[in-house]
Amino acid sequence: MIESRCGLICSECDYKEKMNCAGCIKISKPFWGEECPVKSCCENKELANCGECEEFPCELLKSFAYDETQGDDGKRIEQCKKWNLN
Ligand code: SF4
Ligand code: SF4
Repeated sequence: MIESRCGLICSECDYKEKMNCAGCIKISKPFWGEECPVKSCCENKELANCGECEEFPCELLKSFAYDETQGDDGKRIEQCKKWNLN
């Protein structure tokens, strides 16, 4: 069961409860802005998550995953790979 487009595990995210966020798959826009470019890109391509994309892992996804303050050191990229093993 995937939890996000980018590979984040929303159920383990501290902000989910704090910000009353339903999780990436269930929301139309994130609590932190008007649009998440990764979510929009993935959904516009009608993919379940970035791991299904021919361009995976693209520069945009990497910029999110390795962001100094908001990133997770590439963990979400590895999660996308796991979701797409089958
Ligand atoms: S960063 Fe974007 S794609 Fe990733 S969980 Fe948040 S809204 Fe979804
Ligand atoms: S890997 Fe990059 S190009 Fe592919 S859907 Fe995700 S954000 Fe879009």
